Amino acid sequence: MPSARTDPAHGLSSDRAVVRPAMTDAPVQPAMDGQPAAELGRLSGRGLPGVVLRSYGLWYDVQLTGEPRVLLATIKGSLKRFRLRTDPVAVGDHVSVIDVGENEGQIEWRAPRTGVLSRLARETNDTEQVILANADQVIFFFSLRFPEPHLRMMDRFLVLAEARGLPARIAINKLDLAAAEPGPDGAPLGMGGARALAEATFRDYAGVYPLHFLSVAAGYGVDELRAALAGKVTAIAGPSGVGKSSLLNAIDPTGERLIGDVSAANRKGRHTTIGTQLYRIAPETFVADTPGMRALAMHAVPGEQLPECYPEFRPFLGECYYDDCEHLDEPDCAVIAAVAAGTISQERYESYAALRREAEA
Ligand code: GDP
Ligand code: ZN
Repeated sequence: MPSARTDPAHGLSSDRAVVRPAMTDAPVQPAMDGQPAAELGRLSGRGLPGVVLRSYGLWYDVQLTGEPRVLLATIKGSLKRFRLRTDPVAVGDHVSVIDVGENEGQIEWRAPRTGVLSRLARETNDTEQVILANADQVIFFFSLRFPEPHLRMMDRFLVLAEARGLPARIAINKLDLAAAEPGPDGAPLGMGGARALAEATFRDYAGVYPLHFLSVAAGYGVDELRAALAGKVTAIAGPSGVGKSSLLNAIDPTGERLIGDVSAANRKGRHTTIGTQLYRIAPETFVADTPGMRALAMHAVPGEQLPECYPEFRPFLGECYYDDCEHLDEPDCAVIAAVAAGTISQERYESYAALRREAEA
């Protein structure tokens, strides 16, 4: 599968300390089509390593590595001059920033990206807008009730993550609401009953993706989810109202989201962030709120790439009678046979068939 993230270290992010190569005079390299750009700029030796947390247009919050300070930084002119087909600096980027005093900085260098979640900028359509650089994983967040999960929408998100080579997890929140509902004997289902209900609702995904069952309100499952975030950069995406902000508040020890005064820009009276916000919840643990994910999900994955994006299909791909089998109506299709045998779920197969027909239309 085409992926920018095939490096073996992928997912093992305890050693994802900021990349600081030896000083380099290498010229700035343009982004390759569909590939993350190489490093950008030059290390002067005066810069400090950091991670871009958020963007305010021409200004960026850069979290310094190994210290609590966040510098409000601009990009050095030399980094802006090149006609890249990507944002020169984006949320999630590892950068070198020169401290110019008064908690302000100048970004002089950006590390090569291990991958990007991006979408094409509307007007030009050949420049990508980076939603998040260097993500290690994505969590698709839903609730069991209010709103109820929309599994076909979730499949679109999952396909997108697969197409980007990004490991995905699924989180299902608000189990407390189902726990209060009456069970068959009229008594409340309780958390155990609610969890069984949630497991039944998401049974097609068990064994395919890690599932997290939660009630952020009741503190149920939060520690387990926090453990899954440790040492990684995680994008959290999902419909509104499912409890994403509540989760971020629950796991962010600084309370930064609530108070909002840690942000360097707030000290300067600049408040309007653009796009993704990255939160540091532990020294090496970052979680991103990704408002652009819905637009991203509308990006179609090419039809021939879709079968690979359903992980439970993979053992059967290449086993069909026709080499170019689309797994729709062909005879002797190994995927369709696996559906008939119950190895692949009917629902997931129908989700695939719908996306495939849409892609070919
Ligand atoms: P977001 O739009 O995904 O960020 O969702 P919010 O975090 O703003 O939550 C939407 C609503 O759901 C708020 O009223 C929350 O208080 C509520 N909520 C969040 N988590 C839970 C939960 O576990 N159980 C219940 N009953 N309500 C929750
Ligand atoms: Zn087939």
